[in-house]
Amino acid sequence: THFGYSTVRLGEKQSMVDEVFHKVANRYDLMNDLMSAGLHRAWKDALISTLRPPPTKPYRHLDVAGGTGDIAFRVLDASGSQAHVTVLDINADMLAVGRDRAPARFEGRIDFVEGNAESLPYPDKSFDAYTIAFGIRNVPRIELALAEAYRVLKRGGRFLCLEFSHVDVPVLDAIYDAYSFTAVPALGKVVTGDGEPYRYLVESIRKFPRPGAFSAMIREAGFGRVTDRPMSGGIVRLHSAWKL
Ligand code: SAM
Repeated sequence: THFGYSTVRLGEKQSMVDEVFHKVANRYDLMNDLMSAGLHRAWKDALISTLRPPPTKPYRHLDVAGGTGDIAFRVLDASGSQAHVTVLDINADMLAVGRDRAPARFEGRIDFVEGNAESLPYPDKSFDAYTIAFGIRNVPRIELALAEAYRVLKRGGRFLCLEFSHVDVPVLDAIYDAYSFTAVPALGKVVTGDGEPYRYLVESIRKFPRPGAFSAMIREAGFGRVTDRPMSGGIVRLHSAWKL
């Protein structure tokens, strides 16, 4: 049946993604800096300044596809002592790197959980905020991930998603294409010994829905006040929404 066929393909997509991050886990942070020329730090900082976690109140934050902890560490640095962040990722190798590099000052305020964005191991209305940075394009069924985000958020909860987007600026788009199709896999090969995982990552950016289509999916999941903001000429977009 059509259903059976697509299920197999979805399973294949997830195992391919898992293999990519298993291979690169140890070099992941270095590669991020090299490939984005350090820009990913500014994109992540922009997410945090949009989020503005409360300085004094209790605050529960879920960072999905949290990988090696970049977003979680920033959330904790920007929030008060009553904040707690859960880093959830499907890949144990990425989480292990995150656990290792988590600063001691975050002890007791952060946990690392192996889990799938498509079925979160939490009851309804558990979190004040949900973030996913450069993760949602790797999830086979984006609608399921969005529905789960909505479910685990409290009323008034915030959804923020950083993801690569489509560059619409003339000239920059050509440079960006040339860079991502040739330089990125080449860098990947030099640093991790294998260019293939990075070829896959570049492909997954092309296949991700256009901004308007993605916003529609967010609304479809139940969210309100859905907005998005391009950064660096549209290389990356910050999507924001609320569970009203
Ligand atoms: N958020 C981190 C950052 O910005 O540096 C890591 C982003 S990394 C490009 C993508 C992450 O998505 C990987 O750690 C991968 O294991 C995770 N991932 C892929 N599929 C997932 C799924 N179905 N559920 C949860 N995490 C997933």
